[in-house]
Amino acid sequence: MTHLVAPIHADDPHGVRERLRAAAAAGADAVELRVDRVPEAREAVAAWVAESPLPCLVTCRHASEGGGFNGPESVRIALYAHLARQAKRPLAVDVEAAHFRAHREAWATALGPLLAPAAPGGPQLVLSAHDFVRRPDDLADRLAHMLDEPLCGVPKLAWRAQGLEDVALAARLVRLAPKPIAALPMGEAGLPARVLARKWGAFMTFASLDATQATAPGQPTLAEIRGLYRWDALRPSTRVYGVVGCPVGHSKSPLIHNAGFAEVGFDGVYLPLRIEPDAAAFDRALSAWLAEPSLDFHGASVTIPHKENLLRFVREHGGAVAPLAGAIGAANTLVRAGGRLLADNSDHAGILAALGAHARPGARAAVVGAGGAARAAVAALAGAGCEVTVFNRSPDKAEALAAAFGARAAALADLGRAQFDLLVNGTPLGMHPQVEGSPLEDGHPALRPGTVVFDTVYNPRRTRLLAQAEAAGCHAIQGIEMFIEQAASQFEAWTGRPAPKDVFRRALG
Ligand code: NAP
Repeated sequence: MTHLVAPIHADDPHGVRERLRAAAAAGADAVELRVDRVPEAREAVAAWVAESPLPCLVTCRHASEGGGFNGPESVRIALYAHLARQAKRPLAVDVEAAHFRAHREAWATALGPLLAPAAPGGPQLVLSAHDFVRRPDDLADRLAHMLDEPLCGVPKLAWRAQGLEDVALAARLVRLAPKPIAALPMGEAGLPARVLARKWGAFMTFASLDATQATAPGQPTLAEIRGLYRWDALRPSTRVYGVVGCPVGHSKSPLIHNAGFAEVGFDGVYLPLRIEPDAAAFDRALSAWLAEPSLDFHGASVTIPHKENLLRFVREHGGAVAPLAGAIGAANTLVRAGGRLLADNSDHAGILAALGAHARPGARAAVVGAGGAARAAVAALAGAGCEVTVFNRSPDKAEALAAAFGARAAALADLGRAQFDLLVNGTPLGMHPQVEGSPLEDGHPALRPGTVVFDTVYNPRRTRLLAQAEAAGCHAIQGIEMFIEQAASQFEAWTGRPAPKDVFRRALG
C-alpha cells in the first residue's frame, strides 16, 4: 500500500493538533510532522505522535536539503532517540542520507530501539536525498547506497524535474528497486509521478492540506490527488493519459476526462503533462514515456505548442496519421493501441459540432489566425462548403493555409471591410490569464448584427470577443462547445465507449 502523506508544519505548535485532524478528514492516510524548527520540543513532538489520528512520519529536515534545521546533529539525534523510547512510535523517521552517513554511529545508536525488532509495519528509517535545483547525474548510485545501508527501510529521492522524462525515470527507479521506495521529481513536470506512486506501488507520496502546507514544488493538494486524480481508483493496471502542453496548469481537460473515466468505470487516469516548448523537449519526453512499461502510457491530448510536433513525432516513429490530421497539418490526439501510435485531429469535429447548422454551404466565413485551431476551422468550414477567408498576423501563413483548403487570404486590416456570416477566432487572444485580449477592438466593423461569432478560446467561457459580439448584436458561440465535442472524440478513441458529455459539462461547472 502506498501511503498518502500530508506534510504538517509544526513551526506553530498551537495549530498542529487541528491540522492533524484536518489531514485525516481530508483523506490522508499518514502525516509527515515537519519539526525542523522545533527539534528541542521533544515532549510536544512525542505527544503529537501519540495523539495523531494518523500514523506519523517525523522529519527534522536539515537546511542543506531544503529544510529549516541548522543546529548541531546531536539535537535531532536526541529528538529521534526520545521518540524511540515512547509507547506510541512513529510510522517512520526521515534523515538525509548524507547526514546519516556522516554521523552513522550516533544515528544507529539512537535509532536502534526504534527500528529493532524490524517487524512488518513497524517503524522505518527513511533515508532521503533532495536536490531542489537539478536532476543529479548519480540518482541510481544514491539509491544503491541507501539500499546498501542495513538500517534503511525506505530510500527517498526527490529532485527538480528537468522535464516530463523525470517521471519515466521515477517509474523506472520504483520498478527496479527491490523494495518500495519514494521517487519524487519536483516541479510541475513531476506531478504525474506524485499521483502515479500508487499505481507503481511506491512507499509513499506527499499531498498537502493546502498550498501553505506544501513542502515541495509540484506537490498536489489532498483534494486534487483524491478528487481530481482518482487516488482510490489507481491500480497497477491503470492506463495513463494526459494533456501535453506548455503551460498545462490551466487546462480543464483533467477535470472532464477523469470525471468521464469514473463515470463509465474505465481503469484510467488523466494528468497534466508539461513539456517545454521546443521540439527536442517533446521528443525526449515522449520517447521516455513510451519506453517505460510501468507508465502504461496509452494516449494524450496535445495542445499549444506541440500539435505539429505530435504529427512529426508519430510519422518519424512509424505510426499512423489520420488523413484529416495530415491535411490540417496539426494533431491534437495521440492514441497508442496495440503498440502502434496514431495521431488524429478532433478539433475539426469539435468545430463542426459547435457551429451546427451555421456551417452551411455558401456561408461566408472569416477565420482569424493560422495556427492549429485556425487550420482545423478552415478545413472544417471549407469541407462544409463555406466560402472561407483567412486573416492572420503573419500574411504568409494565412496564404499557405488558404491555399491548402481552397480558401482566400486577406490582410487583418481588411477584416472590417468585408461582409461575413460567420467569424471564427483561432488565435489565443483573450485566453486566461490575458482575458482583456481580443483579436478585434471595441466597435470593430466586422461585428455586425446577425453575424455568428465563434471563439475557440474556452477559458474564460465568455471571452472579451464574445462580449463585444453580443454588444454588437451578433450571435455568440462559446469555445466550450468545441472543447466538449473534441474531448468526446478523444475519450471514445481511448476507451471505445461513448463519452458521457453531460458529465463533462457538469465537471466544467
Ligand atoms: P497556435 O497554433 O499557436 O496559433 C495561434 C495563432 O494565433 C497564430 O496564427 C498566431 O499568429 C495567432 N496569434 C497569436 N498571438 C497573436 C496576437 N497577439 N495577435 C494576432 N495574432 C496572434 O495556437 P492554436 O493551437 O491554434 O490555439 C489557438 C487558440 O485556440 C487557443 O486559445 C486555444 O485555447 C484555442 N483552442 C480551443 C479549442 C477548443 O476545444 N475550444 C481547441 C484547440 C484550440 P502568427 O501565425 O502570426 O504567429
